[in-house]
Amino acid sequence: MGDNVQVAVRLRPFNERERVRNAKLVIKMENNTTTITDPDGKYPEKKFTFDFSYWSHDGYNEREDGYLEPDGSKYADQAKVFDDLGKGVLENAWKGFNCSLFAYGQTGSGKSYSMVGYNPNKGIIPITCEELFKGIEEKKLTDDAEKEAEYQVSVSMLEIYNETVKDLLNVSSFKKGGLRVRQHPQKGFYVEQLQVAPVSNYSDIEARIAEGTRNRTLAATNMNATSSRAHTIVAINFAQKAKNEAGKSMTKTSIINLVDLAGSERADSTGATGERLKEGSMINKSLLCLGNCIKALADQQEGKHISVPYRDSILTRLLKNALGGNSKTVMIAALSPADINYDETLSTLRFADRAKSIKTKAVVNESPTD
Ligand code: ADP
Ligand code: MG
Repeated sequence: MGDNVQVAVRLRPFNERERVRNAKLVIKMENNTTTITDPDGKYPEKKFTFDFSYWSHDGYNEREDGYLEPDGSKYADQAKVFDDLGKGVLENAWKGFNCSLFAYGQTGSGKSYSMVGYNPNKGIIPITCEELFKGIEEKKLTDDAEKEAEYQVSVSMLEIYNETVKDLLNVSSFKKGGLRVRQHPQKGFYVEQLQVAPVSNYSDIEARIAEGTRNRTLAATNMNATSSRAHTIVAINFAQKAKNEAGKSMTKTSIINLVDLAGSERADSTGATGERLKEGSMINKSLLCLGNCIKALADQQEGKHISVPYRDSILTRLLKNALGGNSKTVMIAALSPADINYDETLSTLRFADRAKSIKTKAVVNESPTD
C-alpha cells in the first residue's frame, strides 16, 4: 500500500549558446513516453515513461510582458505545470497530508524555472502560495461561524551547502557554521532553531521568499554564472483549526516542502578545480546519497531487505519523510534538450525512472488543538 512518488519530466528550450552553435535536439516526447537519442549514434534510443511529460522546448510566443504563452500546439507553460502538479499538492495540504515537491536535474536544465520561475513566468512555489491564500479567503467566507475555524500559515527557508544548513531567513545563522539537524521521535529529522515566520497573506510570504532568495549563496561555475550550488528547501506550514461535531477543537497540519536541488552534474564536467571541486564533491555527497536512498527504496519495492541510508547526508535526513514516510511526493526532472548534455540528461532520466517505484505512506495529521 501507499502512494507512488509522482514523477514528471520537463524539457526546456535551447538557450542562446546552444542556438548559436546549432545544438541538436536529442529528446522526443510522445504522450507520456520520452525518448533520448545518442548524438554519436553509439547507443540505441532509450525510452522512458513518466506520470507527466512536459514539452516546453518550443511552441510558444513571448508576450510583451515576457510571459511565455503556448501558441496552441504543444508548449507546456507554467500554468499547465501548476494545474497538474501544484493543484494536487494544495488539495492534499487541505486534507492534512504532508506534501513534497522537488526538482532534480543538471545546472541550467530548468529546475528553478519550474519551482520559482522568473517574472512574469511564476513557478510552482509562488503560484502555490497565492492559491493557498486565495483558498483560505474563500473558506473564511463560507465557514460555519460555530466551527470557529482558524487558518495559520508560516514559512521557513533553508539552504544546504557543503553539508551545512543555513537559515535563509536568518543571516546570523550563517557564521556559526550552520544549524544542527536533530531527530524528533515522532516527527523525524528537523533543523534546530530554524526560523519559522508566520505569514498572513500572499505578499507577506512573497516578501519572505524574496528575502531568503537574496540571502542565498551564489557561487558562479562555468556552467551557469547565476546558479546556486546549494540545495534550497522552502517549507510552508499550514494549520487548520476548527471545532468538530462534538464541539472539540481539532487541528489539522500539513507541511509543504518545496525543494530546488543543486545541479546534479558531476564536478568534473563544470571544469571545477581546487576549492570549487571540493564544494562540488560535497554537494555530490548529498546528491549521491539521495541517489543511494532512491536506489535502496526502489530495491525494497522489489522485495529486497535492505536499509535506506538516510543518515548519510543532511539532504536525505531532511527529505526522509518525503522519500519514504509521511508525505505525498512529486518529483520534476528538468531536462536539457541539447546533444552536448546527452550523458547528464540520460542520467537524469534514469534517476527519475528509479524514483517512480518509490512508495510513501501519507497520513492525515490531525489531533486535538493544544
Ligand atoms: P536550473 O535552476 O536548473 O539551473 P534554470 O531554471 O535557471 O536552471 O533554467 C536555465 C534557463 O533556461 C533559464 O534562463 C530559464 O529561463 C530557461 N528555462 C528553463 N526552463 C524553461 C522552460 N520550461 N521554458 C522556458 N525557458 C526555460
Ligand atoms: Mg537553479
